[in-house]
Amino acid sequence: MSDAGAGDLPSPDVSPTPETEKYWAAAAEGRLLVMRCADCDRFYHPPRARCPDCLSENTEWTEASGEGEIYAHSVTRQMGPPYHEATPYVVAYVELEEGPRMLTNVVTDDPEALSVGQSVEAVFHETEDGEYAIPRFRPV
Ligand SMILES: [Zn+2]
Repeated sequence: MSDAGAGDLPSPDVSPTPETEKYWAAAAEGRLLVMRCADCDRFYHPPRARCPDCLSENTEWTEASGEGEIYAHSVTRQMGPPYHEATPYVVAYVELEEGPRMLTNVVTDDPEALSVGQSVEAVFHETEDGEYAIPRFRPV
């Protein structure tokens, strides 16, 4: 992985469920999917069959732009294996352009320089077994 600061972050295998398999498969292709409720027109994440707002099952997968901004972030300085080698690293809520907030990592060589409201874009880190990828973000 050549993304700044990402080489150290482990990308453990994921275990998709029927509700999340499309999300992980798209990430493996470098695409970020979110779900949209056709009844209340809300985008949401993480994926689930029913809209978390109005409980409608009239939902659909939508490809997100992969662009967003940092809503909140913190720097993790101590962590056990396998993340120990990756410290310091950034855990953040990123608010996607479409609206949902994702709990994720922002990969950067300079965690102290990040700020709330900063623009970020999705990057995709292949899982260890090569089957899927984990969406993360980097400063634009
Ligand atoms: Zn809804």
